[in-house]
Amino acid sequence: MIKLKINSQSIEIPKGTTVLEAARKLGINIPTMCHLEGTEHFTSCMVCLVKDAGNGRLLASCSMPAMDGMEIITDDAECLESRRVSLELLLSEHVGDCEAPCQLVCPARMNIPLMNRLIASGNFSKAIEVVKRDIALPAILGRICPAPCEAGCRRKSIDEAVSICLLKGFAADNELTTNKHSVASSSNSGRKVAIIGAGPAGLAAAFYLSKADHSISIFEKNEKAGGDLLKIEETVLPANIREIEIQTILNSGVAIQYQTEIDKVRFTELQQNFDAVILATGAMNGAMEEWGLTLSKSGIEVDKKTYQTILPKVFAIGNALRPSKLAVRSVGQGKELAHLLDEYFKNDVLHALPERFNSKFGKLIETEYVTYLKESNTNKRVDASGGKAHGFSSEEAVAEAKRCLHCDCRNPESCKLRALADEFGAVQKRFQYDDRVLVEKEFVSKKIVYEPNKCIKCGICVRLTKQHQEAFGFSFIGRGFDVRIGVPFSESIEKALEKTAVLVAEKCPTGALALLDSEEQL
Ligand code: SF4
Ligand code: SF4
Ligand code: SF4
Repeated sequence: MIKLKINSQSIEIPKGTTVLEAARKLGINIPTMCHLEGTEHFTSCMVCLVKDAGNGRLLASCSMPAMDGMEIITDDAECLESRRVSLELLLSEHVGDCEAPCQLVCPARMNIPLMNRLIASGNFSKAIEVVKRDIALPAILGRICPAPCEAGCRRKSIDEAVSICLLKGFAADNELTTNKHSVASSSNSGRKVAIIGAGPAGLAAAFYLSKADHSISIFEKNEKAGGDLLKIEETVLPANIREIEIQTILNSGVAIQYQTEIDKVRFTELQQNFDAVILATGAMNGAMEEWGLTLSKSGIEVDKKTYQTILPKVFAIGNALRPSKLAVRSVGQGKELAHLLDEYFKNDVLHALPERFNSKFGKLIETEYVTYLKESNTNKRVDASGGKAHGFSSEEAVAEAKRCLHCDCRNPESCKLRALADEFGAVQKRFQYDDRVLVEKEFVSKKIVYEPNKCIKCGICVRLTKQHQEAFGFSFIGRGFDVRIGVPFSESIEKALEKTAVLVAEKCPTGALALLDSEEQL
């Protein structure tokens, strides 16, 4: 047996045990990417570096056998910094987008490519579920939003942007007309939130907070909910669409008092009687200074990351912060604040939502169009034959959704590279000196996509195809910096992965090999 210490904890283990295995026995977490239990060791990613306190050397813990008397440190500043550098080196030659450009510019960060895939495959009910994770009023916004997402759409470089807004509106209308909308939940968290104002921001906050089982009371000064939405012409936003969609939110267990002006006294009472008060009042009014709030020229001052005002229980969103014609911005803020408050009620700590790592490679180069069109077609942008206010028919929506290039990565949640880049604060561009290489995509049986330029050469797929005795399998091709994962004898990937296509896609630590219809985002 061998005795050693890891982070000052002693452990006795059989000879041949690696430092990584010994640390795991002690419950000490060391990140890995190229290591896969049940396959032979192969050290390449260097994110499992630890320090030998005896000589100060950094070691790859996944392949280093533990030795008698060793003292290992896994978590000092040098170990953490070396892992960050390892990740940045991997990212320096990584070409991929974790999230699609359209999603990154959508103020509500809606998962647009996933919605498009679901509409294209006729799964309209799942499509609206995906939309409503981020947008509480999709039938309304589908008609009035100026679509900043379409300005960021990659398809524009080939011909015209995908008609994202109408697709979202289609998914919403389909739900409204089939009467499959939300009903009140029977459970209650015991937390109460007062919302002042029933415009887009207040309604969105109410929708997501009520979904999380909190009790919501809206106080609206007008005799109808909708705020500025009530001013939009019928030809742009038909009143029946507006009313049904707003009523759907109110029917989900939200209490609303109309024609209720909140003054200073009432505001103080709300703070006493509720766990949180949300100001979604639209443009602020000067009297709010007397309520104890701080105001700037544009609106109520808040912590930009948490929407918290100077009063600890009071939050402000939407046009109360800054006048804007972009209702989707208000709707996005309503969702974000609802998630923040839900976490706050559960853990008693108000944390800003983390900004996630996003690998980005920018514009498509003309020679890449053909690669991206492999998952799309060359059809022209579809117009809604009945006009924008009427929206797409099912056939039009499916045809338009099929124009999407699916610029997102298919493994954004399970990708270890992204998760570790987040954890260690890795910066993608730190070691990027050369022009980027071209995006390549190969498809296997319409089930799997292989993107070699997202590959970190961890060799897991090589070991798995060998272990499962594929006739061809994957191998390392070439040498040194130019080494890549490929199929020997120039065989097709289809041939290489006859038995193991799904397995390698599931075990790949990045999105280089991924299932096209992975369940992870559904
Ligand atoms: S492989 Fe990972 S890091 Fe790369 S684009 Fe996909 S999710 Fe992002
Ligand atoms: S082509 Fe599709 S995924 Fe790409 S930016 Fe446009 S809508 Fe988004
Ligand atoms: S494609 Fe293979 S070598 Fe590349 S990251 Fe995925 S599993 Fe590792």
